[in-house]
Amino acid sequence: MRAAQVARPGGPLEIVEREIPEPGAGWVRIRVQACGICHSDAMVKEGHLAGLQYPRVPGHEVIGVIDALGDGVKAWKQGQQVGVGWHAGHCGYCDACRSGDFFGCQVQVLTTGISFDGGYADYMLAPAIGVAAVPEDLDPFEAAPLMCAGITTYNALRNSGARAGDVVAVQGLGGLGHLGVQYAAQMGFKTVGIARGQDKEALARQLGAHHYVDSQAQDPAAELQKLGGAKAILTTVTDASAMAAMLGGLGLNGTLMIVGVSDSIQVSPALLIFGRRAVKGWYSGTAKDSEDTLKFSAVTGVKSMNEAYPLDRVVEAYDRMISGKARFRVVLKMEQ
Ligand SMILES: [Zn+2]
Ligand SMILES: [Zn+2]
Repeated sequence: MRAAQVARPGGPLEIVEREIPEPGAGWVRIRVQACGICHSDAMVKEGHLAGLQYPRVPGHEVIGVIDALGDGVKAWKQGQQVGVGWHAGHCGYCDACRSGDFFGCQVQVLTTGISFDGGYADYMLAPAIGVAAVPEDLDPFEAAPLMCAGITTYNALRNSGARAGDVVAVQGLGGLGHLGVQYAAQMGFKTVGIARGQDKEALARQLGAHHYVDSQAQDPAAELQKLGGAKAILTTVTDASAMAAMLGGLGLNGTLMIVGVSDSIQVSPALLIFGRRAVKGWYSGTAKDSEDTLKFSAVTGVKSMNEAYPLDRVVEAYDRMISGKARFRVVLKMEQ
């Protein structure tokens, strides 16, 4: 089989031939159909993670078909279409796991494409516990980014405290934001798209936004207050000052939901106290959350807009993602 590996921190992505691996107890083998390229894959390529073992195959936005089961796997069958995302495993017995907070496992969090080889390959192995069922009507190429960009925005929005009819803003209209706006609108929120430049308004409205704020020409906080203040603002940008500029747009009991890593942001304690506002981070989620994301997307028609590349052009595909110019996600298609 072909696999695109990084042999050393900072090294190039290179296609190598490998033996098709056999799944151990509790693991499954997946014939990969499509794998999205996420900005987090740069941490693997550039060696920003302490303790990561090389060579490593990146990729945590995987859709494929189960074609072999390790011993003791009960939940899955050969031929079943599944997805694998960022969070692929946890111990199940630590205090965090016993409390249901699997994302915060204190013993062994397994991350796809980091703790073990991911989806830039014809085949991969995954823990059975980290696999999500894919609804029949989703196309693998279209669905792949939902396993990271999708779950991240969907799960943050549904845990933001906002209810149907509330004002919810999504800051940024890139890989995450173009999904966030669709999810917010489909969840029944009064959805406000916020981005830089008037040229993004048509896209925001096409994705379902009821309002659009051009953050270069208008003060987003003031515009949100004109709508009564936001119950939640999902920020998908990585610029700390741009995030902080949203805080004044929160209504009473409003929450700023952060899903991207940035420098420190400054927050006024008075703003938090006198409006019971909050700043909160959200971790993408587990395999069940991925499954919920896929089901919701299938029912509502939420789609990731993707650019396709064959695995053999992985270097070009990765560079395209890094350039920030892709509209909006880059996805590897394994033509087999
Ligand atoms: Zn990702
Ligand atoms: Zn645990």
